[in-house]
Amino acid sequence: MSKRKPPPPDPERLAPLIDSHTHIDSGGNRTPEQVARVLDRASAVGVGAVVTVACDMAQARWVVDAAHWDERVYAATAVHPTDVDELDDAHRAELARLAADPRVVAIGETGLDWYWLGKREGVAEPDTQREAFAWHIDLAKRLNKPLMIHNREADDDLLDVLRAEGAPETVVMHCFSSGPAMAKTCLDAGWILSFAGNATFRNALDLREAVASAPIDRILVETDAPYMTPHPYRGTTNESYVLPYTVRGIAELRGENPEDLAEATTRTARSIFGIEP
Ligand SMILES: [Zn+2]
Repeated sequence: MSKRKPPPPDPERLAPLIDSHTHIDSGGNRTPEQVARVLDRASAVGVGAVVTVACDMAQARWVVDAAHWDERVYAATAVHPTDVDELDDAHRAELARLAADPRVVAIGETGLDWYWLGKREGVAEPDTQREAFAWHIDLAKRLNKPLMIHNREADDDLLDVLRAEGAPETVVMHCFSSGPAMAKTCLDAGWILSFAGNATFRNALDLREAVASAPIDRILVETDAPYMTPHPYRGTTNESYVLPYTVRGIAELRGENPEDLAEATTRTARSIFGIEP
């Protein structure tokens, strides 16, 4: 993370908001007190609930704990596509047990990541990623929970696996970063697009077109903290309290009132994740 200062809290509260995808612990917040402070900072600007997402087994255990510590925190459990080499039978059994917890509102983040192949040590091979993705799809269907997808430079292969396995009833394309054609394919399939801070980056032209094209009732908003800090704070550490900046940026792009977008995305998040007002 950069040494630059993180964004100041938005002076104008924007409520109600739900941060549909964050990593509280990756930002260095691990104790119940630290988690409560993250949520206090978020609720002060209108972000009343968050879904904190696991990428490995240790995080899967932690997010379920965190969701029991604080009623504003909900969890999503999975092993991230790049790390699925660790997903042996014992881990699958444990993950299935964790995912069944009532505070777990989605199976994620799972999917395919071709970006890191050959760039980083220890990244799972494509066939291993495909098999593990299929396993997570099946888990989501067995538990009747939404599937929260991570897709990095894998549009076509991701759609192939989803079609072959049969998609669960609810699919969320987390940190949607593709263009308008992929957006249309996902929307036609009935899936939800979740937008993060990169939708506000000035050079993300294809993504901005996708953002503008999605119906207001098919959108979620997320920070994906500690990454993806929105314009003009790109490169600094992100946290759930930063979400209003992203929502204002997206609303501007779509020619909508930020309040209307906040209201609509919160309604959608509550309905698909079963989050009580
Ligand atoms: Zn994430």
